[in-house]
Amino acid sequence: MAGWRLNTVWQEGIIAGFPPSLYPWTPRAICVNLHPAPHPLCACGHHVTPDQDALLDYARRADTIAPARVWGTYNRTRDRPDDGTAKILVHAETAGIVHGRRSWEPPTTVRAARLRILAAHIPYGARHLADPIRGHYPDLEVHLYDAGGLDL
Ligand SMILES: [Zn+2]
Repeated sequence: MAGWRLNTVWQEGIIAGFPPSLYPWTPRAICVNLHPAPHPLCACGHHVTPDQDALLDYARRADTIAPARVWGTYNRTRDRPDDGTAKILVHAETAGIVHGRRSWEPPTTVRAARLRILAAHIPYGARHLADPIRGHYPDLEVHLYDAGGLDL
């Protein structure tokens, strides 16, 4: 299934959770509960929804950190300090085991074991990240879009 998610981009253009272009698939999802991810009774896995409008509504309604944690491969303590980063929309294809959403997520959400990134959609306010992203992912489609005031 192809769908949408939010991802953090580091200032140098690395999309968190997506290795450079030689490795088009993400590493397998992992879980702090030490079971294979995604697990049907947990919230782990790479979260994706085919409904872009529902995802953006969810991001607007929820507090700004919660969706980023669940959707954005966002771990400021383990990966990097929260410094010079932005959220982007990522179009991605799921692979491997897929389970359904958690109750608070958009109804069409799935949780997958792996993802392949298809395109990066960068809010206009973070357009300075377009060229650094292209530098790390030369085969990736990169688009700018108007986030309608949403600070991803
Ligand atoms: Zn889990």
